Amino acid sequence: MKNMEESILVIVKPDGMVKGLAGYVLTRFEATGLRMVAARMAKVTRELAEAHYHHLREKPFYEELIRFIMGEFDNNQDNVLAFAFVGESAVKKARAIAGATNPEEADYRTIRGSLGRVTTKGIFENVVHVSSDPIEGEREIKLWFWPEELTVELFPSKLAGNRKVWVEPGGPKTRTGPWPEEYK
Ligand code: UDP
Ligand code: MG
Repeated sequence: MKNMEESILVIVKPDGMVKGLAGYVLTRFEATGLRMVAARMAKVTRELAEAHYHHLREKPFYEELIRFIMGEFDNNQDNVLAFAFVGESAVKKARAIAGATNPEEADYRTIRGSLGRVTTKGIFENVVHVSSDPIEGEREIKLWFWPEELTVELFPSKLAGNRKVWVEPGGPKTRTGPWPEEYK
């Protein structure tokens, strides 16, 4: 990864998968010019879902969010498509095409604004996940991918038995405060 480059995790969420939007989402992300360095179909277990959204565990919508990302509201679609992308201002570029968190508030030209919805239970079915910042990007990529699933050495890894593992599996301390000004 070059100086100034950021790495992010992108996920086509269960609602995107059941609606057949995986290809469309990838097409939109390819158009950003960011470099794809990993892709895999992932089964979302409760353990993975809770680790991914651990920073939201105090929120009133947390339990519903965990059930949503495990596919329980989308025909039990518990397989999602996860990508790692790298590039300059990756967070800004990717979040711009994803759109605001609430699909009702997202610009209609964005993925979430044109294809997302708010369920009657108030869950934002917003088609894609995009890392909130580069620190989260690192943590999430390490959570969703083994080192050998990436085509580049983004972060330090080491051999454990006959497989490589991340040196710092959790990544740096997760930021829990508001977004840094530059990503707003
Ligand atoms: N979410 C929700 N209701 C809310 C806020 C968030 O259902 O009031 C869900 C939504 O699917 C969102 C995810 O929780 O994408 C993670 O929330 P976050 O604030 O990290 O938004 P994001 O980074 O995905 O835009
Ligand atoms: Mg987020």
